Amino acid sequence: MPTYEPVIGLEIHAQLCTRTKIFCGCATDFGADPNTHICPVCLGMPGALPVLNSQAVDLALRAALALGCDVQPRSVFARKNYFYPDLPKGYQISQYAEPLALGGGIDVEVDGSSAFVRLTRIHMEEDAGKSLHEGFADSDRKTYLDFNRAGTPLIEIVSEPDMRSAAQAATFFERLCQVLVWIGVNDGNMDEGSLRCDANVSVRPVGQSTLGTKAEVKNVNSFRYLQKAIEYEIGRQIDLIEHGGRVVQETRLFDAAQGKTYSMRSKEEAHDYRYFPDPDLPTLVVAAGRLAEARAALPELPDARRARLMTQYGLPAYDADLLTQSRELADYFEATASASGLPKAASNWVMGEVLRTMKERAVPITAVPTTPTALAGLLRLVDAGTISSTVAKDVFATMYESGRSADEIVESQGLAQVSDTSALEPHVAAVLAAHPDVVEEIRAGKDRKFQFLVGQVMKASRGKADPKVVTDLLTRAIG
Ligand code: ADP
Ligand code: ZN
Ligand code: MG
Repeated sequence: MPTYEPVIGLEIHAQLCTRTKIFCGCATDFGADPNTHICPVCLGMPGALPVLNSQAVDLALRAALALGCDVQPRSVFARKNYFYPDLPKGYQISQYAEPLALGGGIDVEVDGSSAFVRLTRIHMEEDAGKSLHEGFADSDRKTYLDFNRAGTPLIEIVSEPDMRSAAQAATFFERLCQVLVWIGVNDGNMDEGSLRCDANVSVRPVGQSTLGTKAEVKNVNSFRYLQKAIEYEIGRQIDLIEHGGRVVQETRLFDAAQGKTYSMRSKEEAHDYRYFPDPDLPTLVVAAGRLAEARAALPELPDARRARLMTQYGLPAYDADLLTQSRELADYFEATASASGLPKAASNWVMGEVLRTMKERAVPITAVPTTPTALAGLLRLVDAGTISSTVAKDVFATMYESGRSADEIVESQGLAQVSDTSALEPHVAAVLAAHPDVVEEIRAGKDRKFQFLVGQVMKASRGKADPKVVTDLLTRAIG
């Protein structure tokens, strides 16, 4: 029995974060009433002329540079002709024979092994409108059209068929998304369609160098679904071949509820798009100066930042990974680390209480009211032994709610750790008096019970006693 090797290449459509569309001044806002952001240009009225959005070009350049691509000095917009109700012009403006950028790629690590996934190209294009098949009283007979999305600027990023597992493909998509959001090119909102992925999947017997026939799974919009769709597709193709069948080249869709892909159209029904250069748009010429500016404006990228957090602050890879999930989170950590001078404590707190609170309240780091300086104040109180880490968690919650400083809260609520023996001795005496049996057991050699007494004294002090001092006092009293 031959064993099979999956081969996967992805095509990703990412919306560029511009205020207006790619060839007109209509807003790109998500969620507006249908057909309120439209004009003669994005509706394809006769005589209306497209003008390229300069901001869209800058964002596309930024993406190309961040992904290590070679930006082409000249690229050409072409018309991709097909009929579909959501495509008002009867063609989509896209780049075809001469795209904006070639090459590039990203490192993808899965289960400790790393691989470089090459990119074929990045090109600019416009999105289509949206067909609304549901939600109207006459939806059983009619399809409504919303053209707000028509003309939204996109980049399409095409990978080489370099991936060999569903997990690797999902990680690639995740990393790509992280970079695009990091550099401010895309907002990462997959639920709103800002980022969509087509997965090209084939299998071949291990050892064969030619590629098998691929099927393309269209429009997957989550990392998890992508992995599931590819896993299903690999299984389906192997099964087909094992039972004497052949994979046919076709476009398929993923049904998330069923966890299956199904055929949408075969190669025979595929369109001939009759691409030709759009006569309404001049060649896009990227001047060397503009490219240099875009390169200079590029922020430190996730991989570099991860490496620097490890060397500069001595953090483990685990921490560096988590802290670089977004640029804003990494900024928040670094500000806390430098304000407190306690990088590891800052990392623990950001990964712990801060992320936990964000998740609980479903807010991004930018909406966390506690500033890095305020958090640093709390970390210093813990470091100095003024409060225990248990008390510190409550103080953090109060800081988050009230906006007051850690010092203020500890002071006004009398939360400072008590190490004064004279203040703790009465609690110790009371606990010993209440548990003579436990004291006997400890004296008889049951050391385990000692922690119980420490716990009782901590409780009596409402968590404020310094556990070290309590341990000393109890040891001395029991003898
Ligand atoms: P098409 O002509 O069908 O658009 P392309 O050659 O342009 O195909 O490739 C589209 C995507 O499919 C790319 O991401 C590419 O890496 C991937 N791809 C091409 N051939 C295969 C294959 N045999 N198996 C898996 N992926 C493939
Ligand atoms: Zn418009
Ligand atoms: Mg293609």
